[in-house]
Amino acid sequence: SKTHHQLHVIFFPFMAKGHLVPAIDMAKLFASKGLKATMLITSYFTPFLSESIERVRDSGAQIDILNIGFPTAEFGLPEGVESLDMAGTPEIQQKFFRACGKLGPQLAQILELHLPDCLVADVFFPWATDVAAEFGIPRLLFHGTCHFSLCAFVTMYLYEPHTKVSSDSEPFVIPNFPDQIEITRSQLPEFVRRDDGSELARLIKAVREVEPRTYGVLVNSFYELEPGYADHYRRFLGRKAWHIGPLFLYDKRISSDEHECLKWLDSKRPNSVLYVSFGSLANFGDKQLMEIATGLEASGKEFIWVVRREKKEGVKEEWLPGGFEERMEGKGLVLRGWAPQIPILEHQAVGGFLTHCGWNSTLESVCAGVPMVTWPVSAEQFYNEKLVTRILRIGVEVGAKKWKRLVGDFVKRDAIERAVSRVMEGEEAEGMRSRAKGLAEMAKSAVKEGGSSVLDLNALFDDLRSARIANDSS
Ligand code: UDP
Repeated sequence: SKTHHQLHVIFFPFMAKGHLVPAIDMAKLFASKGLKATMLITSYFTPFLSESIERVRDSGAQIDILNIGFPTAEFGLPEGVESLDMAGTPEIQQKFFRACGKLGPQLAQILELHLPDCLVADVFFPWATDVAAEFGIPRLLFHGTCHFSLCAFVTMYLYEPHTKVSSDSEPFVIPNFPDQIEITRSQLPEFVRRDDGSELARLIKAVREVEPRTYGVLVNSFYELEPGYADHYRRFLGRKAWHIGPLFLYDKRISSDEHECLKWLDSKRPNSVLYVSFGSLANFGDKQLMEIATGLEASGKEFIWVVRREKKEGVKEEWLPGGFEERMEGKGLVLRGWAPQIPILEHQAVGGFLTHCGWNSTLESVCAGVPMVTWPVSAEQFYNEKLVTRILRIGVEVGAKKWKRLVGDFVKRDAIERAVSRVMEGEEAEGMRSRAKGLAEMAKSAVKEGGSSVLDLNALFDDLRSARIANDSS
């Protein structure tokens, strides 16, 4: 019968790790619940993706990969640039975003061939709503952020409170929010402050226009984390949304080979090590990295610091103080490249996280019960910071005042040292840690049978089934 038809969902994530990783988790989740899931991506990500889904696939879940043709040369991109983190300069990034806007025909072709019951497409593909509509299927939107930040975005567009202050540094209260939250214009994304003529600004305008017409929004968060904002988004701002996270908690990625930094952590006392990482995109200059190194050393705390720089043998690293790594031997680890972030955060030796407040990192910290030093850089990270420090009270602000794409505001060593000390030791730190541990427990309950996220997920599946039946009979 129609009610027993297996639902098929196509996931179309944006080509950056921070967007792709939660989308993979979502596809795995849907497939593990008996749906058929298809991931639509560029070939660059195929090996990474195949590896991530191998285990669920072996257990019988239906999950497939389709390659969306991405002719880089035709799009004016350097060969092989099939992901945002490979677009090294702002110019190439602009081109990359523009290229992504040209994928409509490719998507239409895929939908024509595979006609799913629903398309879950990234926020950066606003035009996907119209393509899905051509085929009569609902389009769901995935932003990869929390309810609090979604509320902040919509509120800035609707009420433009930032246009009513006299300077970039004058704090104002976000209107109608359940809590009194102050922010400054300088902390808002550039594309919210003004139309800077960039590709991203154009894109965001399209998103604003299309959002109310989409079937709804999937949120990688859980109700108990931000109940006031989950309600505010649905009831006050009138958006249709389902909270189905934390997505990474449903199926833990277990890696077979243990990274050496985890062994290093085994030798450390509980809550004694600070983990420092700024995600996959933020890119600090030499001067800022030097400042971080000095701040960390001055704090006297043990640390793991992830730096997106390669080590070249025999070449002096201008961004590190002379002899830094030798002096820090046993005390601090500088990790170049990709770190196993989730196992690091979950290790009992880790007691704090100096983070750029990317939503994935923030959520992973919450789920590990680890308090944060917040250092937002760009995207919606300043909103996430307010949630962490003002509402959840599980973090200390390092004091970044300005949003600046990829590089952020310059932060001085003593500010770093002070914030790190506040999060790692003393009564205030204990309070934050115990609140964080409480939230971590709630997160685990949310994804268990009968938990808030699982209930919302079932509600979504019911909605999709009814949408399908309505379609079949029309
Ligand atoms: N990540 C990781 N190792 C790294 C850097 C990042 O595993 O060395 C993961 C991290 O756990 C998170 C994601 O990459 O899941 C980064 O997403 P986030 O939203 O925090 O930041 P973005 O990279 O999008 O700025």
